[in-house]
Amino acid sequence: MKHIDEVKINSLINIKSSEKEIDEILEKTKSLKRLSIVDSAKLMTVSNAKDLKKIYDAAAFVKNEIYGKRVVLFVPLYISNLCFNSCLYCGFSVQNNLIERKKLTIAEIISQTEFLLKKGHKRILLVSGEMQSSKENINYYVEAINAVYSAQINGNKIKRVNINVAPMDVESFKKLKFAGIGTYQIFQETYHDETYRKLHISGTKADPDNRLDAIDNAFKAGIDDVGIGPLLGLYDYRFEILALLMHIEYLETTYSIGPHTISVPRIEPALGSKYTENIQHAVSDEDFKKIVAVLRLSVPYTGIILSTRENSHIRDELLDLGVSQISAASSVTPGGYNDNSLKHNDSKKSQFALSDMRSLEEITASLISKNYIPSFCAACYRRNRTGENFMNLAKPGDIKPFCELNALLTLKEYLLDFASPKTKELGYELINKCKKNLNKPDITSLEKFFENIDKGIRDEYV
Ligand code: SAM
Ligand code: SF4
Repeated sequence: MKHIDEVKINSLINIKSSEKEIDEILEKTKSLKRLSIVDSAKLMTVSNAKDLKKIYDAAAFVKNEIYGKRVVLFVPLYISNLCFNSCLYCGFSVQNNLIERKKLTIAEIISQTEFLLKKGHKRILLVSGEMQSSKENINYYVEAINAVYSAQINGNKIKRVNINVAPMDVESFKKLKFAGIGTYQIFQETYHDETYRKLHISGTKADPDNRLDAIDNAFKAGIDDVGIGPLLGLYDYRFEILALLMHIEYLETTYSIGPHTISVPRIEPALGSKYTENIQHAVSDEDFKKIVAVLRLSVPYTGIILSTRENSHIRDELLDLGVSQISAASSVTPGGYNDNSLKHNDSKKSQFALSDMRSLEEITASLISKNYIPSFCAACYRRNRTGENFMNLAKPGDIKPFCELNALLTLKEYLLDFASPKTKELGYELINKCKKNLNKPDITSLEKFFENIDKGIRDEYV
């Protein structure tokens, strides 16, 4: 596979280090600089509880220095499960006859978005299977993005649409950019060439290099916020993480930009997928925690995303270790949002099974009770703080004041417009607590914004 030096990765996979060496690496992380692949490999092989605890503490420090206490919330919107690829682990795979196929119409996309707006969502990740005609794909994605942005409920609109879809050529990416997408997200699934070829048996996805090229094409089209990640469970996680870091090194060297986000999906059972009945490289919760912490230390500037594939318990733990964005109240079924969607997890149109079935309000209240600031912010993308601009702010920890202020503004809006009295009370308590830690100019500006919110003005940001 392009850019991935398997020989080098295999030579690092079992590298052992003394406690002193681990301490020295962790000392370096305090400067918030990227780690070398060798240092990351050394952290990945740690297995004793004492050193693991040190890694977790260091990750919590870095997370707090860069992003503070804000946690960005988003929701996926599955628009189509039609797919002509054959990924053995996915419920949407072309050979799966058990699944009911559904491609949402534009009217359905608008009505699903309206449903999500009524719950308080502001950030959507569009997800789709891949049809055979690339022209049909890009036209549908663009129409879907326009539909999501056009939906509104009482003046509330979706602020940012990200998209997780198949690779495309530069011209098509330009159309996506023009339609106003935030992040283009694509998972390499596995960076291990042999495993990749075994698991993707037909369709355009069968070519691993074509998939890797997607990020290059996106950059060439001017999309500078990209999200990447492996699907954990397909191959040895230590290999996958080092290969992911190698991919990032390639991107940084070639384009001076790394990924805006890294996702860490763990494979889940999928209807009709025999492969997911017996996952050979399943990642344990302990290893999962180490993966998130090592990623946080290795690429401090990047957002780390966790989805509702994971249960609420592990999601809470990982927030401390480095996760900065989570999905909430998700459905992985095209057309799956309705008042019963969180109670039914067994749809014949779903991609895989979900674990965290809490509502947006429950997740928001739970974050607040742990002193995290739930954030519905999309300011960076609207203020051109993307790509290199974003990284220049995030690397030294200068993005934090923007994030914290915007998180408090969007939280106040959410509390006023959507929350129950109990969540409101909790939320205002948190806002007052956070205010005490702000400097004077920030308090003054926050108070001005708050006055406007009380007057009914929405969607202001710094
Ligand atoms: N079709 C596009 C693609 O493959 O890139 C985008 C949509 S696909 C539904 C999004 C992601 O779902 C895939 O990249 C894969 O990592 C993930 N996925 C597939 N099957 C899964 C499973 N059984 N459990 C968890 N995640 C899965
Ligand atoms: Fe299709 Fe994507 Fe699922 Fe593969 S992972 S079958 S390409 S939807």
